[in-house]
Amino acid sequence: MKFYSIKDKRHQVSFAEAMINGLAPENSLYFPNKIPVFSKHFFSNIQQMTLPELAFQVLKPYVEENISSAELVEITEQVFDFKIPLVPVQDSVYALELFHGPTLAFKDVGARFLARCMQHLNKNLTARVLVATSGDTGSAVANGFLGIEGTQVVVLYPKGKVSPLQQKQFATLGQNIKPIAVNGTFDDCQRLVKTAFSDSDINKKMNLTSANSINVARWIPQSVYYYWAVAQVAEKQKKIVVSVPSGNLGNLTSGILAKKTGLPIDTFIAASNKNDTIPRYLKSGIYKPMQTVQTIANAMDVGDPNNFSRLIELYHSDYNKIKQEVLSFSYPDDDIKKWIKNCYQNNQYLLDPHGATGFASLIESKLSPDQVGIFLETAHPAKFRETVEAVIEQKIILPERLAAFDKRTIQTDELDASYDGFKAYLMQLS
Ligand SMILES: *Cc1c(COP(=O)(O)O)cnc(C)c1O
Repeated sequence: MKFYSIKDKRHQVSFAEAMINGLAPENSLYFPNKIPVFSKHFFSNIQQMTLPELAFQVLKPYVEENISSAELVEITEQVFDFKIPLVPVQDSVYALELFHGPTLAFKDVGARFLARCMQHLNKNLTARVLVATSGDTGSAVANGFLGIEGTQVVVLYPKGKVSPLQQKQFATLGQNIKPIAVNGTFDDCQRLVKTAFSDSDINKKMNLTSANSINVARWIPQSVYYYWAVAQVAEKQKKIVVSVPSGNLGNLTSGILAKKTGLPIDTFIAASNKNDTIPRYLKSGIYKPMQTVQTIANAMDVGDPNNFSRLIELYHSDYNKIKQEVLSFSYPDDDIKKWIKNCYQNNQYLLDPHGATGFASLIESKLSPDQVGIFLETAHPAKFRETVEAVIEQKIILPERLAAFDKRTIQTDELDASYDGFKAYLMQLS
């Protein structure tokens, strides 16, 4: 299978090239040139497969030009080594818990797959991964790449604007992970990364890659858990609605990709916080990005979702079809808090602020008796301890993996937000 650039379909590359390039020319995204369609036999068998076996079957068509079956078996066993349970929350409503990985958020899946593929495909070069983060992405990418030979990860984050616990998940690791606290905002961090990608001095000296959800090797593996979720639904005769807490639309479009291969999901919901670019688009047909606003579901604080072009591509630009199959709801912080509180009181199930938008959207979409709803719980509530504790007026217990990070000591470099300083830093890396 080849991957084409959405802005220029004549530009086609292999999976390996798409992964190493990150972005196609002109900041365009890569997209599979032929979405595989799986057989009836495959779908009737998925219930019997383990998660790594399922991942192997799903991912093989996308990567087989570059990764042998034996290597893919190894990669999928390493990546999918934690559970992804489908947990009943209330009548016909389930949470797909994606937070049982090393950094307790769904981004672990894509980040780990990308890191392992990089290790297999980039054997003779040192890949330098640059990532700007406001929290979750940095920790998933840093932990995914930790100790992976032939890679070095530079994590830029805004000094003092990332929660202490989040910072400990990427700034205490050592080895091949280089955290940099930038005296500036998240936007400054992103600007530094983007400028470095287009700097010819730097590109002559080193091999830079991005670990953002625009990277195909982060995007495609996320489709695996949609098959896994459907396989676990007991009410087989019902239609399935999946609600996805959305920011950059990486996760949602991974799910729609799975549907296009034949997976029986009837409807998707793009659950949003106050950043409502997608709900507005679905109402009006007009895509109008907005200035990002800060919310308590901060991993979804995106005003111009960078996977939007993949959504359009998945539907061949057919707005009416998108409107038929994708719903969207937007929630201000006060509503998110209310849903966390209600769900905890009524169901004894504790939501994180992102999952809460997914749960709320499912309930407000008014499932009919022939439908069953799944929302993705994209992070563990303890990652947002301060917010959640204030809402339920109760202390919560940190899971062991998070508590272990909490005990570690932060070791970080620090830089001003000027590009010259960052460039000098990169040029001296050995
Ligand atoms: C990144 C993130 C999201 C948003 O996912 P996208 O793929 O960017 O839409 C939602 N919830 C959590 C917890 C996240 O970390």
